[in-house]
Amino acid sequence: MTKHLTENCIFCKIIRGEIPSHKVAETEKSYCFLDINPLSEGHCLVIPKYHAEYFHLVPDEYLADILPLARKVALASGLADGQYNLLQNNGPMAHQQVFHVHFHIIPKPNPEQGLKVGWPMQKVEQNDLKATLDRIKEKL
Ligand code: AMP
Ligand code: ZN
Repeated sequence: MTKHLTENCIFCKIIRGEIPSHKVAETEKSYCFLDINPLSEGHCLVIPKYHAEYFHLVPDEYLADILPLARKVALASGLADGQYNLLQNNGPMAHQQVFHVHFHIIPKPNPEQGLKVGWPMQKVEQNDLKATLDRIKEKL
């Protein structure tokens, strides 16, 4: 699977074993390891063994492999009745820092640990929702 990796990407290097990582699990198409600066204990990253900057650039067969692995790790890394965030950032404005697609699995053991989410909801008119719907559906 190394033919889909690039030379200078830090996560490609981790997959190839050129940079050390705390490996949690791997499949033929995916690799999971501990985040080096965790938001909570058990914070993991699951990545495709395919170098792509963004989620929408990953081929279906890699996406099909990665979520079942993410679920296994979420069950294993969280607490018994665990709550967690499964998070995936695309682009600097969306807080992406490493440009090899990765899913964060961030256990939320209590209100203080894990991801702090600001969720700035906006009020919109029905007409605006309809216009949005039309815009998206036109491109699907
Ligand atoms: P993002 O902001 O979604 O791009 O997150 C990148 C994540 O990669 C951060 O949570 C970092 O702590 C993590 N990270 C960066 N370098 C490494 C590394 N060498 N090993 C493990 N995690 C890393
Ligand atoms: Zn890469």
